[in-house]
Amino acid sequence: MPQTLMIYDGTTGETAPGLRTGGIPLVPVGFSWPRCATCEGAMQFLAQLPVDEGTVAVFICANDPGLCEEWDPFDGGNRAYLFPSAISGGLVPATVPAEGETRLGAVSAVRTVTVDEDTYDDARSAYAELCGRGRAVLGSLGGEPDWYYADRVPNCPECEKPMTFVAHLEEGNETATAANYGGGLGYVLTCAPCTWAIFLTQS
Ligand SMILES: [Zn+2]
Ligand SMILES: [Zn+2]
Repeated sequence: MPQTLMIYDGTTGETAPGLRTGGIPLVPVGFSWPRCATCEGAMQFLAQLPVDEGTVAVFICANDPGLCEEWDPFDGGNRAYLFPSAISGGLVPATVPAEGETRLGAVSAVRTVTVDEDTYDDARSAYAELCGRGRAVLGSLGGEPDWYYADRVPNCPECEKPMTFVAHLEEGNETATAANYGGGLGYVLTCAPCTWAIFLTQS
């Protein structure tokens, strides 16, 4: 099955609608910015991903890299949200907390490219070979997860059914402005009926 790669496409506005990494997330009115369960610091916003049911916003704790269970979907070191399309009042730019590592070093526009490979890793390699720069690949949308370390499809905390894979997320285009997953890969999953989204990383 072809893979839909997310490709770095320069910078964009910090409150731009649609697919991007970094900047300020668009959120429902009254949203409160997530804090880390371990260090209690404000989390870092990673990406805004349009999906069939709405928009997913992904956060991770970047205050004490490696010390806040940032890799686990349920330990409170990261957070993902599914904001349904039909949300009343629409989405507005979030209020960013004054303290903590809240934002990536750059806002990246993203374009999508379809590559005819069966796995994400093969598609990423094929693109890197073609374009000479693997780090331009920021992840992928839809398809099947390509587990870096071990298969792990968590069940939805609410209905207990396996969650649906939505996206791979890479650390980013440049070391200086990228997220930190310990050199690994991020995975976004949702349960649309329950309006749940989760994030986990493997390295
Ligand atoms: Zn933390
Ligand atoms: Zn569910």
